[in-house]
Amino acid sequence: MSVSVPIIPQSLLTRPGFRFAAAILITSLIAVVGWLVFATGGVKFVFSHSMYIPIILSAAVFGIRGGILAGLVGGLVLGPFMPIDTATGEAQATINWIYRTGFFALIGALCGMLMSSLHRQLEIVRHQSLHDSTSGIPNKNALFQHLSGARQGSETPLSLAIFNLNNYFDIINTLSVEAGEELLGGVIRRVKNALSDSEAVCQIQADQFAIFLPGVDKATALERCADMREMLKPSFPLSGIPVYVDTCIGLASCPHDDVVPLELMQKANIALDRARGSARAVVAFEPSLARISQEQLALLGEIPAALNEGHFLLHYQPKVGLENGEVTGVEALLRWNHPVRGLVPPESFIPQTEKTGLIHDLTRWVIRTALRQLAEWEQRGHSFSMAVNLSVQNFHEADLLSFLRRQISDSGIDPQRLELEITESAVMEDIATTVPLLSSLKQIGVKLSIDDFGTGHSSLAYLKHLPVDVLKIDRTFIRGLTRDVADMRIVSGAILMANGLGLVTVAEGIEDAATASLLRQMGCQVGQGYHFCRPQPVQDVERWMREWNGKGAEFQPTPVHSG
Ligand code: C2E
Ligand code: MG
Ligand code: MG
Repeated sequence: MSVSVPIIPQSLLTRPGFRFAAAILITSLIAVVGWLVFATGGVKFVFSHSMYIPIILSAAVFGIRGGILAGLVGGLVLGPFMPIDTATGEAQATINWIYRTGFFALIGALCGMLMSSLHRQLEIVRHQSLHDSTSGIPNKNALFQHLSGARQGSETPLSLAIFNLNNYFDIINTLSVEAGEELLGGVIRRVKNALSDSEAVCQIQADQFAIFLPGVDKATALERCADMREMLKPSFPLSGIPVYVDTCIGLASCPHDDVVPLELMQKANIALDRARGSARAVVAFEPSLARISQEQLALLGEIPAALNEGHFLLHYQPKVGLENGEVTGVEALLRWNHPVRGLVPPESFIPQTEKTGLIHDLTRWVIRTALRQLAEWEQRGHSFSMAVNLSVQNFHEADLLSFLRRQISDSGIDPQRLELEITESAVMEDIATTVPLLSSLKQIGVKLSIDDFGTGHSSLAYLKHLPVDVLKIDRTFIRGLTRDVADMRIVSGAILMANGLGLVTVAEGIEDAATASLLRQMGCQVGQGYHFCRPQPVQDVERWMREWNGKGAEFQPTPVHSG
């Protein structure tokens, strides 16, 4: 990271010590040139032109006035007392030295003007290089200067917080760029109110700003960040609309003598990344976070080879009809049988994979493998359905539809028996794009299911228009269902609503018989969870099915804890 700085920095020019030394040097140079002209035979020789050097120097350091003054002094030194020729002692005509003095002063003034304007331009460039062009506050370069400057300080701690305005681009897209800028101004004003003089807020991206907190340790910084986040909660009036900003914060702290600006930024960014991906709004950096990030990055790089070498496999988790105990389907859940790390769960690599095109390769592999397995089960007389999980990124893949059509027709499976699970948050992220795509998927004949329902802030009005068949209630509401009255109300409300819309309800994460029977009483049709069966490799799930079906319609679920 480099910051452009003028050849003679403005800060140096205004330093009294530097100005005093420059004045001495310029005076000495004028005297030396006077002596040189005298010693070389007088002003009729060329050496008198050497006087331009101290004049230009004076103009560079002291500006117009300095240039004129040096010109006048230089002119006088080469003036009335300096002969034309020292050998003959012939004196100069008055007009000669007066003209020269005036000319020197003019040169000094012109150079001074040029230098002043150059300095002004350089100051503008310097200011621009250190400030954000939209908000006008210090930018990333300035932050690096703050952080680099902090290295030379005392041994007090230092913290750096990066604030991300999560819904900034939504606001710009919905209102206008100007509204976004106004919002940013409002946010920065509120944040600045909470900062002391030694602290600074710097814009580092359109929707991100960093707060430099010298002398603030991690515990205090965490409290301050939480307070600032609270301060940003009251709405900002934009174009007559009260707009709320949603923020998450990554924090990195260090002892003062240990500041490496890039490293601190990287740590705060890692913490921010974690804050974005978790429910916590403020996350402070821990070495374990960096380890996880590095491991995830390394894992990502290994995916193409792992696909080629057959290191991925599917585990299947049955779904059970809560009324009659029949297995209605299975969900295919991806596992990575890593040669060094062992069985890696999807949550350790899918979120990273979703940020890259690799998610398309993985999803295609899952769909191919799951359909092959379903076809095999069909040959053996099973008629349940198969669910696979799709990421929102899969929706942006141009030929997802044709791929699905081809795979379904190659497998010879009734498309009704393939269920695609899409998380509620993925559907809601970009509802305008998702709804037409869901409709196209429906036209292939597959079933569509909204996964993790209850976690994605969906609007009930939209739900009515979604072409889906199944609503899977998220396991966080099921976990404490028998004890938590709020969960009970939410779940029974969701079931009523889904039934009203003609959707099948599935409860995921059922871990005990009491929860299963309460859900049945509430009208939930299908259950899935460890209480029935954990996700398992194909042979184990087949064994479980044989045992389960052997129990017949008696439906007395027995937990199976393997895999
Ligand atoms: P999901 O689709 O909601 O899958 C259900 C998750 O809940 C599975 O975790 C399953 O093992 C777990 N689960 C099932 N019953 C219980 C229970 O009774 N108690 C508890 N505590 N957990 C239970 P898993 O297999 O680790 O998968 C996690 C998530 O990873 C999945 O959530 C899904 O979103 C994603 N995922 C899995 N396979 C794929 C895939 O092939 N493609 C994509 N895009 N995502 C996948
Ligand atoms: Mg799922
Ligand atoms: Mg789920």
